[in-house]
Amino acid sequence: MRSTRRSKVVLSIAILFTFVAVAAALSIAFHVGTPGASISLFGLGVSLGPCLAAYALAPIRLKQALRRLVLFTGGLSILAFSFLTSANIDLEGFFLLVFEGVAGAAVGHTLATSVSGPIFFGRFLCGWGCWRAMILELLPTGKGDRHRQRLSRYLPFAGLAVCIAAAAFGYFVLGHRAGGVLGSPLRAGIQPLLGGVLVYYAGSIALAVAFHDQRAFCKYLCPNLPILRLTSRLSLLKISPDSELCNCCGACSRVCPMDIDVKTFAVSGSRIGTGECILCQRCTQACPTGALRTAIRLH
Ligand code: SF4
Ligand code: SF4
Ligand code: SF4
Repeated sequence: MRSTRRSKVVLSIAILFTFVAVAAALSIAFHVGTPGASISLFGLGVSLGPCLAAYALAPIRLKQALRRLVLFTGGLSILAFSFLTSANIDLEGFFLLVFEGVAGAAVGHTLATSVSGPIFFGRFLCGWGCWRAMILELLPTGKGDRHRQRLSRYLPFAGLAVCIAAAAFGYFVLGHRAGGVLGSPLRAGIQPLLGGVLVYYAGSIALAVAFHDQRAFCKYLCPNLPILRLTSRLSLLKISPDSELCNCCGACSRVCPMDIDVKTFAVSGSRIGTGECILCQRCTQACPTGALRTAIRLH
C-alpha cells in the first residue's frame, strides 16, 4: 500500500518534471535563442521524465537498473549542456567565474546542485543525475568491502584544492574561460572541457578499480564533497527508519554503496543524516520489513 503511494508520488514528479523541462526548453529557444541549452533541457525532460516514470512503475527487482538509467540520462544531459553551450558548469567553471569576477551558468549550477538543492533534497543528484557517477555505476568493480575513514575525511579537501589550482592555472596561465555568461562572447574551449571530463573519468575509474569500489571517488576524492557533506546534513529529504519494524537483519547496511551503517540508524529510529547518503534507495528496497522509507521532515 505504502509503496503504491510512493510510486504515485514519483510518477507525478516525473510527469511534472517532463512538462517543466520541455516548457523551459521552448521558452529558452524562443526568448533567449540558445539552441544548445534548449536541446539539453529538452533531452533532460523527455529522457529523465519517462525514465523516472518507468522507475516508479517497475517491480522492485528492476528498480536499481532503472535508477541507473535515470542517472545516465540525467548525467548525459548535463554533459550535453556543457558541450552544446561551450560552458563549464562544474566546480572548476565556478572558480573560473570567480577569478573573472562575473556570474554565469556555473555559479547557478553550483549553488543549485551543491548548496540549495542538497538543503532540500540531500545528495539526490549524486544518486540520480551525476555525469561522473553515470559511468562509475557501470563498472564491474562492486561496492567495496571496507571504508577508509581517514581518506574519506581528509582527501576530499585535496580534491577541492586541486580543482581550485586547476582553475587558477587554466585562467591565469592558459587563458581559459568558463563561458555561460549571458551577453558575453567568451566561451569555454571544447578542448579544455573535454580534457577536464577525461581527467575526471580517468581518476575516478582508476580509484574504483584500485579500491574495488564503484563509488570510491564519491567517498574519497570528489571536490564537491566538502560542500555536499555540509549542506546535505540539513536536508529535509532523508531515509527515515521505523525502529519498531526493524528486525536487525542488516540487509540494508550490506547493500549500501556509501558504507553507511544503516542498521544502527534503523535500530535507534534516527534519520540518516551523515552527509554520505546519496538516496539511491537500495536499502529501502532490500529491507524485508518495510522499516525504511524516504521522507521529508523538518528535523
Ligand atoms: S560525490 Fe561527486 S562524483 Fe560522486 S555523484 Fe556526487 S557529485 Fe558526482
Ligand atoms: S543509506 Fe540507503 S539510500 Fe542512502 S546511500 Fe545507503 S543504500 Fe542508498
Ligand atoms: S534491512 Fe530493514 S529490518 Fe533489516 S536491519 Fe535494515 S531496517 Fe532493519
